[in-house]
Amino acid sequence: MNNNNKAYGFSLRCLRDSEITAISPVFFLDRAYLKNWLWSIKYIYLCKMNEALLNQINQLSEAEKASLTKQIERFIFDSRIDISVEESDSKNKSANLCPHCQSSHTRKNGFQYGVQRFVCNDCKKNFRYSTGMATVHLKKKEYLKTYIPYFLEGYSLEKCAKLTGICKQTSFDWRHKILAALGKYQDEQKFSGILEADEMFFEHSEKGNKNLERTPRKRGKSVYVKKKRGISNDKIAVVVGCDRKGNKVLKVATKGRISTKDADKIFEGKVESKPILCTDGHRSYEAFAKSNNLEHHTVKVSAKEYVKKGIYHVQHVNQTASELNKWMRRFNGVSTKYLQNYLNWFAIDKLIEESQNPLKKTVLLIAGAFTAYNDYSKIIDNYNILIRP
Ligand SMILES: [Zn+2]
Repeated sequence: MNNNNKAYGFSLRCLRDSEITAISPVFFLDRAYLKNWLWSIKYIYLCKMNEALLNQINQLSEAEKASLTKQIERFIFDSRIDISVEESDSKNKSANLCPHCQSSHTRKNGFQYGVQRFVCNDCKKNFRYSTGMATVHLKKKEYLKTYIPYFLEGYSLEKCAKLTGICKQTSFDWRHKILAALGKYQDEQKFSGILEADEMFFEHSEKGNKNLERTPRKRGKSVYVKKKRGISNDKIAVVVGCDRKGNKVLKVATKGRISTKDADKIFEGKVESKPILCTDGHRSYEAFAKSNNLEHHTVKVSAKEYVKKGIYHVQHVNQTASELNKWMRRFNGVSTKYLQNYLNWFAIDKLIEESQNPLKKTVLLIAGAFTAYNDYSKIIDNYNILIRP
């Protein structure tokens, strides 16, 4: 195969496993036709295809041909993690954020390998959608689709590695790059109606830290505390917010009690439609509600006050927290460093599980997260800021 077709090798391989294989074993995509719009596959050379099949295709009506083209497009779109989805999300404005400096002052800058390229007005760097994706520097990328189903199963890093045929370190990197990408889902949450918010607390854990001299005793088990008077300052606070439509956010906020600043940061851009806030009446939320001009109802669960006016309560958020507790058990404690990544996973786990095709859903989520690589790179920095005394 010549160089021009190299970029499509992966699709070609996958096409063989698709329903389209019923028609032909091999497709050649002419790159020239894909240049300006990768997915308008107007021209398909059919190689080694028997004449009967060619005739069949020729006899298709225009609508049927269009539908066949669509099917092929969709299949390629699904099967190619790196290039595919960058085009699909090109209408999504947030996709145009510079992956180097997060600036939104970007403009189109021609095409590279048939893919839209951008340039950042601030840092002057060029990028493509894939530049900031979790998959950008992955080696053995072709194994990713084998890996993801094991990952979704929640298998251990070792088991995922063994089943996929990669080493444990790679398995670890992939897991956390994928989880960083899944975080985009939380970032996009917009709350409306009634928004319940509360915190839960995790033990600080250095699980997996090889430089640790003593054996780590604490394994990051969560403690969901309803009465918060006894919270010590070394516990990690996670803010859980959810509305009644199932939107939710779970964010590592700080060490110890949360402040208004923490609440502001976590809900920034997510409360623009002015949801009614329900909390247990913590002062930080009081101030947060005030500064964001939100109606705020408090229920004092500790005083056995559970529901106000029949609708104001924090039961959904309590439920979410206890589900998280249960869900986390499979990992036998997670390192505080990676806690946010696991929260990212939990927040969207059900949605992935209930989707028609969990693998496809995950691939699309990964390919749609344009700052994932940057988020992944910042894990250690974020951790150091969190535990800073
Ligand atoms: Zn930039």
